[in-house]
Amino acid sequence: MNEIYLDNNATTKVDEAVFEEMRPYFCELYGNPSSMHFFGGQVQKKVDEARSRVAALLGAAPEEIIFTACGTESDNAAIRSAIEAFPEKRHIITTRVEHPAVLTLCRNLTKKGYRVTELGVDGEGRLDLEELKRVIDDDTAIVSVMYANNETGVVFPIEEIGAIVKERGALFHTDAVQAVGKIPLDMAASTVDMLSLSGHKLHAPKGIGALYLRRGVPFRPFLVGGHQEKNRRAGTEATSSIIALGKACELAAQYMEEENTRVKALRDRLERELMALIPNARINGGSAPRLPNTLSIAFEFVEGELILLYLSEKVICASSGSACTSGSLEPSHVLRAMGVPFTCAHGSIRFSLSRFTTDEEIDTVIRELPPIIRRGREMSPFGREFLASAG
Ligand code: PLP
Repeated sequence: MNEIYLDNNATTKVDEAVFEEMRPYFCELYGNPSSMHFFGGQVQKKVDEARSRVAALLGAAPEEIIFTACGTESDNAAIRSAIEAFPEKRHIITTRVEHPAVLTLCRNLTKKGYRVTELGVDGEGRLDLEELKRVIDDDTAIVSVMYANNETGVVFPIEEIGAIVKERGALFHTDAVQAVGKIPLDMAASTVDMLSLSGHKLHAPKGIGALYLRRGVPFRPFLVGGHQEKNRRAGTEATSSIIALGKACELAAQYMEEENTRVKALRDRLERELMALIPNARINGGSAPRLPNTLSIAFEFVEGELILLYLSEKVICASSGSACTSGSLEPSHVLRAMGVPFTCAHGSIRFSLSRFTTDEEIDTVIRELPPIIRRGREMSPFGREFLASAG
């Protein structure tokens, strides 16, 4: 299939080298790393190597890495741990634009008597740090703020936020699922206590994630049972996936600088050309710092789902919001939080590139999208009105 895959914030292709690294750990080297025999021991060595590779990408120590099943588990584990470790504290701070992995948990916790503050964002998706300073207090157990937004790519000033959080003695968690592998990270020099990542966003398979846990930060495990992960996450390790994640992190570190420069240039060209060719378009979060691979662009007077359908006919894969919210025709919670006007929010498309994206693929989108938007506008009464007035 010659798909043009520009939906890498939803999930990524497994890198062939990653697949080759994990392949022997299904049918040949299938031992349990906890076993005392040589057969388990050799798997344990590879798991240790993977842990070191993940740690290296984050600028962390290997023992600060806990393997989990996904980004969602890491997010849940971090927040639940913080409130269990500090039972006297009943306040949680997060943002209105978090992924549901954080937001749904926090909203559920309000039903259990926790006070949850969701920080707002401005029209460009930027946080107001003064609001954080106003609401954080001695009752705050944890502040959970994403590193980069999955829909718009807007990057939050994590270290500035961390400095405010640390001053009040709360724990600081960041959902860095979209940032890891795209932004250089150095946990050794960071204010972050816990950080979530997910394998399938950086060319490892689905169903593997990790939680960075700063040495010395109190932790209450989410899954209990066996002694795996130093009693911090019970359950036999997903060895092949862990090994894959390690390789993916090693490759991400190798490729980061060069590929991000190339990918950013492709993203910028796509953005520039679409803005020049299509009237009444705007970039969501365009003046905020953004991930190099993400373009969220809103077209007025057209339905996003219709654009996706027409793009799909041309084998172009994009998204109209996060994968988790598409399927519902409501504008995404992120765009609503940003106050993107209704007429734009409905026609927002996210293109997310990867190191596998080519120049030719971007050329194709630049060629195919303008007539698609026109066709989509002809399908809606507002769109037809707009086209008539524009001549
Ligand atoms: N956090 C963010 C910012 C995400 O984009 C996603 C996935 O889309 C997740 C968390 C959830 O990760 P996973 O799919 O590994 O559970």
